[in-house]
Amino acid sequence: MKPATQVIHAGRHPRQQGEPLASGVTFAGTYAASGDPAKVKYNYGRYHNPTWSAFEQALGELEGGSVLCFASGMAAITAVLDSALQPGDVIVLPEDSYYTARLLADGVFSRMGVTIRKAPTAENRQLSLIHGARLLWLETPSNPGLAVCDVAAAVEAAHRHGTLVAVDNTTATVLGQNPVAFGADFSVSSDTKALTGHSDLVLGHVAVRDKKWNEKLQAFRNLTGAIPGPMEVWLAHRSLGTLEMRLERQTRNALALAEYLRTRDDVAAVRYPGLPDDPAYAIAVQQMRFFGPVLTFTLRNQELAERFLANCKLVVEATSFGGLHTTAERRGRWGGDKVPDGFIRVSVGCEDAADIVADFAAALDAV
Ligand SMILES: *Cc1c(COP(=O)(O)O)cnc(C)c1O
Repeated sequence: MKPATQVIHAGRHPRQQGEPLASGVTFAGTYAASGDPAKVKYNYGRYHNPTWSAFEQALGELEGGSVLCFASGMAAITAVLDSALQPGDVIVLPEDSYYTARLLADGVFSRMGVTIRKAPTAENRQLSLIHGARLLWLETPSNPGLAVCDVAAAVEAAHRHGTLVAVDNTTATVLGQNPVAFGADFSVSSDTKALTGHSDLVLGHVAVRDKKWNEKLQAFRNLTGAIPGPMEVWLAHRSLGTLEMRLERQTRNALALAEYLRTRDDVAAVRYPGLPDDPAYAIAVQQMRFFGPVLTFTLRNQELAERFLANCKLVVEATSFGGLHTTAERRGRWGGDKVPDGFIRVSVGCEDAADIVADFAAALDAV
C-alpha cells in the first residue's frame, strides 16, 4: 500500500456493521480485571490504553517496527537513552542537534556516568567518534541548522563497530524518511511537530526494529509514568490521516518560499534541503521522500529580524514547527544554538503559497 493510503487506514479496526468508522477515545484510569492481572489485556491506566494501542499499531505499520508512544518527544528521547545506556558507556551526539536533547545528555546522563562525544551532523562527521561507543545518535535534518547526514551509511559503519543507532526523525517524520528501513535500531520522534501538524498537543514516540527494545522501553514507561493522555493520542491518530497531504503541500510551499527568498539581496544564507544547490541536497534527495516544512534564512542583525517578524501579518511568530499555519521565529532568542543573531527558522504551513510569499515580501519590504 502507498503511504498516502496507509496513513488513512493504518491502525483502524475492521469495519463492523453499525459501528462507527472511527473509534472514539477511551478514557481509563483502571479496567475491570479480576484474578491474575497478567491474564487481562488491559488492567491499569499507566500500563496500557486501547487508544494508544491503535495509534501505536498505525505508526508501527508506517515505521516497519514496534512503536510505543510517550508523553512528549523528550520523554521518548529519555526512554531510548535510559534503555540503551549504562554508566561507563559512550554516546556520540550531533553537536548541532535539538538543544534540549543535548541538555538532557549533558545534564542528566553525564551525571549518571555516560561519556558524551559531539561532532557536527554534516558530512557524517560523527562517524569519526564512534570507536568504542555504545550509541550513535543522529538527527537529520538537524534542528535548526538543517544539516543532513547519510543514515544508511552511518548505520552500516556503526553496526560494524557494534554501536547502536538512534535517529531523531522529528523534522522529516516517518513519511519524509524511514530510519528503521535504513537499519537504525531506534527511530524517535516528537509528534508535537509535523507528524500531528495541528499545534494542539505534545506527544512523542519510539519505533524499534528489535522487539526486545520495545520491552525495555515499555518497562521505562511503566516505571516513570511518561505516558500521554488518551485524548492527545486520539487527536494524533486523527491527524495522521492527513500527514501525506500536509507534507506534500508544506514541501511545495517551502520550496516556493525558499526560491523567493533567494531572489532578495537583504536575505542571506537561505537553507532548505530541497533546493538543488543546498549543501544537504545530494543526500536528502536520496533518502527523503519529502523535504519537510522547515527552512531557514538570515537577516543582517537581531533588530532587522525582530522588525521583520513584527511586520508579518499571516505568518505567526511562534516556536515549534510542522503545523498547518506558517510560523517563524528568531532562533537566537532561546540561546543554546550556534546561530547568527539574525537567523530565522520558518515552519512553512499549508496555506496557499502565493499568500505566504506575499506576506514575507511585504514584511521584508517594510523592514
Ligand atoms: C521539539 C523537538 C524535540 C522535543 O519534543 P517535545 O515534544 O517538545 O518534547 C526533540 N527533537 C526535535 C528535533 C525537536 O524538534
